[in-house]
Amino acid sequence: MPTKRQNNFMRIAVCFLCVVIYGRPFSLDAEEPAQQEDQKQKETVPEKQPPRLTRLTIVIQEEALSQEGIHEWAGKAGQLLTEWYPKIAALLESDGFTPPGEVTVVFEKMDGVAYTVRDTIHISMDWIRRQPQDFGMVAHELVHIIQSYPPRSGPGWVTEGIADYIRHAHYEPEVPLPRINPDKASYRDAYKTTAGFFIWIEKKYDPGFVKKLNAAMRERTYKNDLFEKATGKSLDDLWKEYADTFRDASRQRGTVASRDRQ
Ligand SMILES: [Zn+2]
Repeated sequence: MPTKRQNNFMRIAVCFLCVVIYGRPFSLDAEEPAQQEDQKQKETVPEKQPPRLTRLTIVIQEEALSQEGIHEWAGKAGQLLTEWYPKIAALLESDGFTPPGEVTVVFEKMDGVAYTVRDTIHISMDWIRRQPQDFGMVAHELVHIIQSYPPRSGPGWVTEGIADYIRHAHYEPEVPLPRINPDKASYRDAYKTTAGFFIWIEKKYDPGFVKKLNAAMRERTYKNDLFEKATGKSLDDLWKEYADTFRDASRQRGTVASRDRQ
């Protein structure tokens, strides 16, 4: 039953029926004899294709319709969601899981920036008027739909850390993360702070770490010792090591600065 509020929305439903064509995986060993190549083809199991977005519904609340540029912004957000859905689904794949294929985005008058409930993203029209370049926020919210964590899956800082990890490691890696204060910051700070920590763990210890973390959250098997299993170090020791990289960096900068003053 549509509510009165829903009737006040203008609905633009877009069905994506395009066929995604994936190239056949290729090998750099191009000089292999043809016979071996034939044998290889017989043994190759077809590569699993990431799930794609099957339906995207964009809802613009009536009072947002007159906002300048709102349709263009919503269209760009729709393109982003379509393009990044299979990429994020592949980055966060886990055994036997398929994320919801239908996504709705609602542009509405509300406080804050955005939030996601199940397969629906709510975005503040005031926020996009003030921060029209903030498409990274849409990527962050899309991660929450693909995460689809059940209730009591694990700590909130992991959920938000993974969402910003996808945003900063994959969606907009050119945007620098803010420096942390090694004396005050914690991995529990979530968002960008935790995302930076996860990116560092993947670079230094385990490139598949976030995929494992995500699978544990989805299967409700998350425990802090997952960090130790992946890296050989406890979560607290790892954080200290990561925070110290900021201390070392500022000490080095301090040395250069004092040398410059001499
Ligand atoms: Zn979030």
